[in-house]
Amino acid sequence: AVGSRHHKSQETQPTNRRSLRLRRSGLHCPANLTSIMKQPREKHTVFIGAGSNIGDRTGNLQQALDMFDEFPQTSIGKISRVYHSEPFGSVEQEWFFNAVFQLYTAHSPQTLFSYCQQIERRMGRPAEHMRWGPRIIDLDILLYDDATHDLETLTIPHPEISNRKFVLLPLLDIDNPLHPVIGKTMSELLEACPDNSTIEPYGHMLLKHRGSRR
Ligand code: ADP
Ligand code: MG
Repeated sequence: AVGSRHHKSQETQPTNRRSLRLRRSGLHCPANLTSIMKQPREKHTVFIGAGSNIGDRTGNLQQALDMFDEFPQTSIGKISRVYHSEPFGSVEQEWFFNAVFQLYTAHSPQTLFSYCQQIERRMGRPAEHMRWGPRIIDLDILLYDDATHDLETLTIPHPEISNRKFVLLPLLDIDNPLHPVIGKTMSELLEACPDNSTIEPYGHMLLKHRGSRR
């Protein structure tokens, strides 16, 4: 079952009388009214891990982020640096670009997961694909508040977090949350991480608010 203690965005609701009166009077016109109106129901904090090793790899990461930003009742929070990382496994393939970003969303883990799959498909990733093989885009739900979730197709937290530097390093760019199952912070997990593949920041930043809506 999903449980959560986070209701962060409610703190920022413009609910007091003064701000309502000012807004009605037109004296106070927030620069980004859309995002303020979107906020109250976007109460879950999610970390998405994204990777690409086919085509315009950094462009693919950006496109996926932009598609999340277009999803209703969902907005983008912090974004990590982009990392260049050596592929896992024995398949001969290009190096990956990886990043992690935060989402604030009103949606359930399952809805978010089906949206991840929809983005993967819309970007051209075939439904059937090789495990450890090359991919245009891979989107994993790493954390959803401090919820735990264990279904056949969806495990939250993502079961591989503690084994992958290409997840831990970008995640640590934006936050150092406690792993709700293992009970250690992400930096503690990195210290104990068995992954010895090569990974380095690439010097490319993904951009926020590129969608036409804003
Ligand atoms: P990987 O991401 O491990 O390289 P895939 O992208 O091929 O591999 O994902 C394999 C399966 O992992 C997906 O079909 C999905 O059902 C499952 N999965 C389980 N938990 C998660 C999660 N938290 N986020 C994304 N996929 C998940
Ligand atoms: Mg995946």
